[in-house]
Amino acid sequence: MTVNSPLTDLKGIGPELAKKYALLGLHTVGELIDNFPRRYDDYSVATSIADIRPGLVTITARIHHATTRYIRRGMQITEAIAGGDDGSVKLVWFNQPYRAASIKADQDYFISGVYELKSQRFSITNPSLELATEFPLNTARIVPIYRETKGLVSRQIRQALNQVLPVIATLTETLPVWLRDERGLMQRSDAILGIHFPDSSEHLQTVRRRLGFEEVFELTLAALMNKRQHQQEISVTVPFEEQIARKFVASLPFSLTNAQRRVGWQIFLDMERVQPMNRLVEGDVGSGKTVVAAMAAVMAMSQGWQTVLMAPTELLARQHADTLYTLLQPLKLDSSIILLVGSQKKLQKDKARAAIASGQAKLMIGTQALIQDSVEMHKLALVIIDEQHRFGVDQRQKLQVKAGHMPHVLSLTATPIPRSLALTLYGELDVSVLAEKPKGREPITTEIVSPNSRKQLYAKIDDELAAGRQMFVVCPLISVSTSLKLRSAEEVFKEMKTKDFKHRRVGLLHGKLKADEKQLIMQQFVRHELDILVATTVIEVGVDVPNASIMLIEGAERFGLAQAHQLRGRVGRGSDAGYCYLMLSDSKPPSRRLRALETSQDGFKLAELDLELRGPGAIYGTMQHGQLDLRIAKLSDTELIADARTSAQEFLDGPNDLLQYPELLSHVNRLRSLTNLN
Ligand code: ADP
Ligand code: MG
Repeated sequence: MTVNSPLTDLKGIGPELAKKYALLGLHTVGELIDNFPRRYDDYSVATSIADIRPGLVTITARIHHATTRYIRRGMQITEAIAGGDDGSVKLVWFNQPYRAASIKADQDYFISGVYELKSQRFSITNPSLELATEFPLNTARIVPIYRETKGLVSRQIRQALNQVLPVIATLTETLPVWLRDERGLMQRSDAILGIHFPDSSEHLQTVRRRLGFEEVFELTLAALMNKRQHQQEISVTVPFEEQIARKFVASLPFSLTNAQRRVGWQIFLDMERVQPMNRLVEGDVGSGKTVVAAMAAVMAMSQGWQTVLMAPTELLARQHADTLYTLLQPLKLDSSIILLVGSQKKLQKDKARAAIASGQAKLMIGTQALIQDSVEMHKLALVIIDEQHRFGVDQRQKLQVKAGHMPHVLSLTATPIPRSLALTLYGELDVSVLAEKPKGREPITTEIVSPNSRKQLYAKIDDELAAGRQMFVVCPLISVSTSLKLRSAEEVFKEMKTKDFKHRRVGLLHGKLKADEKQLIMQQFVRHELDILVATTVIEVGVDVPNASIMLIEGAERFGLAQAHQLRGRVGRGSDAGYCYLMLSDSKPPSRRLRALETSQDGFKLAELDLELRGPGAIYGTMQHGQLDLRIAKLSDTELIADARTSAQEFLDGPNDLLQYPELLSHVNRLRSLTNLN
């Protein structure tokens, strides 16, 4: 058996079960091994029954009097007594009738589970059970919990892993042995064994240190190598012309924030250089990234160069086009703006493409696909990517071919990636932070609302609507789901339109609508032909409707902090105060996470908190960046991260040849294609 063997080579895994594994993305032994536990339950300390306390417990005992009966249709209960001289504990299983027959009365068992008060009696419900042996899998140890799916639970995964121990023992090393020794790290195969079968919590800690180091080391190597490669590429220089910058700034209806000035300046300096710019501007919603991007575009356009602005959706592309027409009008650059989106007629598209090819168009605004696949570039100097993190090597290369050189690339994001994370993940980018919001912005009044108070809330909202304001309603899903008790956009739309707000104009917007339908509805909302827009998170990024002052988020507990914060950023953009209501799905008390939204308006702080409470996944989720994942290293491990980053830097600076470390090389190559965002 090897890492490439199919899982069906394992005992107990037939074609049916293999399908379940496939649902978790696991097909081979190697993938099974690489599937690290989500968390652990510590059942390593055995308690004597005499000392048992509520909570996670492991006891060693014999089991008697196992009986099974129906308590109602479709519900069987198995009860048994565990114990001996030092007392006894009741065990209860639901719908596991085989338990009763399988228990051997004269044998000692390890019994692990949660000891708690249920139906006025203390018992352990659905405990794990194993004959007391030297190597328990599911009890009496630190028990790993894996991602599960219907019909495939952690117990089975542990059983499968237990069969591949010989394969784990042969796993090859990734780190250079000298580096491993220098940093006092354990061997890779031992670490992988330890992550699935930790001996103790101390052991688990050293295991995690080794794997976390490797992870950050590899990510940093990948990022730094990409950066070095970018620096070899040649772009065009766009000299800084003070007059152009002055004229643009003077034409704006507001004065720039200091942060906007500073970041604008950084970008101008980047574009002067012959190495391509590769800069990420992070700025909270409403921090004014568009103007910063416009500054860069104006500098290029005024000197005869072309700029491309890519938005993730057609909706946003159209909105950017509107904004930029207005911003560039005073400079008489508006006539060289071209919009290119999927829903345009062929004739219109052909005209746009011709204008781009002839160089008459200087600023092309559209979605990625359109701009990349079908357009001849004339003199491309700058590519601006808004709210879009997925811009891989392939796209880069395509652009390079089109332009004949590597254009300067500027990415904008409202996803507040904490600096520690940004440095690790985006080591190849230069990062600017717009940490300041334009003056005079009112905070958005945020309130958590229990469904019991829906009526009162609606009355309050209706007053605002009557005063001429508009409302966004965001739901976690489009249609009713059978498995989740969440209010869907369709449901809420129907209810509002026919009942609670039947005297108002209500629209529905979601990702399943056709592009032109979406656009129509959005335009109706922008023109105030709708009072209420019920939507899914399609409205999340960028959409700007200054008259919308209310955001109602349904099933608010389902959203990540960063995401909810971005949604909230859709309101309070005009002169009126903004309101954000976080409607809970039930009347349970709100979590600390949600309460943080009430008190903080700082996207970066909220992201840090999300990171702390939910782990990096919370941030990756909003970044649509699932493949790149810190599985082991916690961002709070600042020392580990610094250590691994330094090691990577030293490795590259030193006389090392990555080719000598094939395993490391293959890891790094995979990561290079993933981290290569720009
Ligand atoms: P985001 O960073 O979320 O993309 P936008 O660029 O859409 O933000 O800007 C949000 C709003 O703030 C826009 O209406 C824009 O015109 C306005 N704005 C941008 N910069 C300033 C500024 N320095 N002073 C006042 N308003 C500004
Ligand atoms: Mg924006």
